[in-house]
Amino acid sequence: MKIHEYQARNLFLEYGIPVADGDVAVTSDEALKIARKTGFPVVVKAQVLVGGRGKAGGVKVVANEAELVSEFNRIKNLNIKGYTVERLLVARAIDIKKEYYLAVTIDNIKGDVVIIASADGGVEIEETAKTHPERIIKFYMQGIKTLDEARWAPVAAQLFSDVRLQKSSTSILQKLLKLFFEKDCSLAEINPFVINGEGNLIAADAKVIFDDNAMDRHPELAALRDMKYEDSDELEAKEKGLSFVKLEGNVGCIVNGAGLAMGTMDAVNLLGGRPANFLDVGGSSNPEKVLNALKIILRNKDIKVILINIFGGITRCDDIANGILTALKQINIPVPLVIRLTGTNEKEAKALLTSAGLTTFTSMRQAVTEAVKASK
Ligand code: GDP
Ligand code: MN
Repeated sequence: MKIHEYQARNLFLEYGIPVADGDVAVTSDEALKIARKTGFPVVVKAQVLVGGRGKAGGVKVVANEAELVSEFNRIKNLNIKGYTVERLLVARAIDIKKEYYLAVTIDNIKGDVVIIASADGGVEIEETAKTHPERIIKFYMQGIKTLDEARWAPVAAQLFSDVRLQKSSTSILQKLLKLFFEKDCSLAEINPFVINGEGNLIAADAKVIFDDNAMDRHPELAALRDMKYEDSDELEAKEKGLSFVKLEGNVGCIVNGAGLAMGTMDAVNLLGGRPANFLDVGGSSNPEKVLNALKIILRNKDIKVILINIFGGITRCDDIANGILTALKQINIPVPLVIRLTGTNEKEAKALLTSAGLTTFTSMRQAVTEAVKASK
């Protein structure tokens, strides 16, 4: 789950990470009030849950009230990567002397938490990562949740020649790590992490993403969710006990179990097709789930075929079959269904489906081949 900069900034404050004075505003009057408190110059920043606001004209430093009002209104009318701007952060502008990059995230391949740091922070960081990967430092936590200061010290020295900044950056990093682990983040990022006019380090931007699977542990974070930026199908699926991720292809997939769902997508790709989604109906045998799954998948107009792949263990194949038959009565399914069922109550399921005129498969390869053919 992504949150806005102003929300991430509040978390930074809670954890003692320095940020500039400021607040979020919906109207230019509110913006003026904030600026009168912080003093000019201030920076006005679009609050949208997509990156690259700076490059899109959504971040602007202004020197006085007239400029503030005109820039506020200009940014409010921007469309940034398809999103309108509802709120803006107004903060005391930092006199930036140098921009760094500092983040904590997860390296899925190494299975470890990694600190990423660079002395070349700012809006071009992605470009730097491509053209000068040697300027991006990666420091692996090696399974521990606190900073091994002796191991980090040479990195801090590489980033900052000033010993005072080595110390203060290390202390800020420790706070960022604490936030990352306590709030179950998948990313906690400061870009740019800057040296200000007084020579101190301060976060000029704040980006935090939480791990959706940990949201149950953090009831306090649920209120931060901004529905406008969430895929409504994925949210609805979650409410209905389905794990659903929309993809680019045209083979709709309904599968029981996350592992088999991944395997099914691999098989579709392997046999020349493109999956339209990941969908795991879970381990239980609730016919209602099949109906809901079909409804959600059919909203995608790219779908050419629906592949149902069930390996019956705890899930009973006949319950799935009943779900399919209920769905056929209740909704119009304008694409072919390719059904593979094997395992618990397979015979009963196949009898039910065959008597309704549907073909079933036992072999996954055969079913996937059939589905890919239907998708062309
Ligand atoms: P992003 O582009 O969405 O990551 O937005 P940022 O908040 O990182 O802002 C983009 C760029 O605007 C930064 O890299 C800075 O160069 C500049 N910027 C942001 N805040 C300030 C500020 O307080 N003062 C100054 N002078 N520049 C700022
Ligand atoms: Mn940024």
